[in-house]
Amino acid sequence: MCDPVRKDLYDVLGASPSDSLQQLRHRYKQLALKYHPDRLEGEHSSESRVKTFLEVDAAWKILSDQTTRRQYDMQRRDEYEYTYCCRCGGRFGVSKDEVEVETQRMLQIHNDEEMHKGQHSGVLVCCNTCSLTICVTWLLNQNMQMSK
Ligand SMILES: [Zn+2]
Repeated sequence: MCDPVRKDLYDVLGASPSDSLQQLRHRYKQLALKYHPDRLEGEHSSESRVKTFLEVDAAWKILSDQTTRRQYDMQRRDEYEYTYCCRCGGRFGVSKDEVEVETQRMLQIHNDEEMHKGQHSGVLVCCNTCSLTICVTWLLNQNMQMSK
């Protein structure tokens, strides 16, 4: 039921959005060394390693440039209104649209009295890297809460 989620560039580098350029560069260098196709030895020179190297390289190209990084950060925020870190290091993300659609649906099926009692709304969210799913609930006054 999980849609394939586009890989987060910070996840690709094993970095976080608050990391400085130096920290990102450090991560990139480590990964580039680890996965560089020239360094592949023996039978482990698999396609997946080359693919990882290309992903790391592409992520770094975007994040190493102040302008493209800022653009990417903005896109990223748009995409996920609320995010929550999974224990695997991945991310659960709920978009503004999902919250909006579900809230509207709930508003239609509940009356005012029920709303005042603190009616919750919620969606199931998949981690973008592992198979864990959490239920994200929020009060219809938009205070988000996370529960497993
Ligand atoms: Zn996970």
